[in-house]
Amino acid sequence: RAKADPVRTVAYYEPSMDETVREARALAADLRTALEKGELSLHYQVQTAIATGEIFGYEALLRWNHPERGEVPPAQFIPVAEENGLIIPLGEWVLQTACAQAAHWDPSCKLAVNLSPVQFFHPDLSRLVQETLENTGLPPARLELELTETSIIDDKQRALEIVRRIKELGVSIALDDFGTGYSSIDTLRSFPFDRIKLDGSFMKGIETNSDAAAIVRSVLALGRTMNISVLAEGIETPRQLEVLRGEGCVAGQGFLLGRPARPEALGLQPA
Ligand code: C2E
Ligand code: MG
Ligand code: MG
Ligand code: MG
Repeated sequence: RAKADPVRTVAYYEPSMDETVREARALAADLRTALEKGELSLHYQVQTAIATGEIFGYEALLRWNHPERGEVPPAQFIPVAEENGLIIPLGEWVLQTACAQAAHWDPSCKLAVNLSPVQFFHPDLSRLVQETLENTGLPPARLELELTETSIIDDKQRALEIVRRIKELGVSIALDDFGTGYSSIDTLRSFPFDRIKLDGSFMKGIETNSDAAAIVRSVLALGRTMNISVLAEGIETPRQLEVLRGEGCVAGQGFLLGRPARPEALGLQPA
């Protein structure tokens, strides 16, 4: 490629845009066959009660082991799958596989599954969830679906109807990545969320920086006021855990408490 010309930066950036598009197309083509080739799997990360250290649930996290590229992170391939609609069959596979596995776990343990906005607004979602619970035998009370606020913001009225329908099945709903993007108090007030997951970015500096700690404290207060349980994501250090414990945070997730791992490595029976 020609050297970057500081005056005509556009000419420098265009080829790399093409590369990004080509890269996304190549990933999309490979993703199409990844399921049947057995390249996809689920890892699980523990969700812990901070006061007692007790594990009360596991979040399913999708993994793609690409034959040439190795592990492709979800942040890279989920947007591709959302764009071309593959997220619908992939999401069905995740839900089916995770529920089938969780049905064999200790009955006190919950399962959390992430939903993309595309899945969330898909007309068959509540039927899919109901059928999956029936065919796996997982009690609805043990399933929690995680949504991000981007799922809701486009059409709040429709989103509220979908959330209500899912909750009627007895499944609970968590608001993921809270504090990033559109987080509004209005959303919290109008949706019957069972849990807020405070985004991991808020853990940075809570041990040393009083502003960071104050933000966490105010989200915990908000959760208490609205009677919504708060789970802190991205806990990496004992000091962060200590601060959260001191502030009365109920639940946590993070590398300190447990890295995402294959179910066998966690002592969870595979399906
Ligand atoms: P998320 O749902 O917010 O999941 C938490 C992410 O943070 C996971 O990344 C997890 O591995 C990572 N994490 C956990 N503890 C720590 C920590 O202490 N420090 C740091 N730095 N990171 C931590 P992962 O597995 O790469 O997933 C990224 C995102 O991809 C997820 O964010 C979720 O939005 C999406 N995703 C993953 N699996 C699925 C899936 O099955 N379906 C859908 N629709 N989205 C998924
Ligand atoms: Mg999540
Ligand atoms: Mg999150
Ligand atoms: Mg996320």
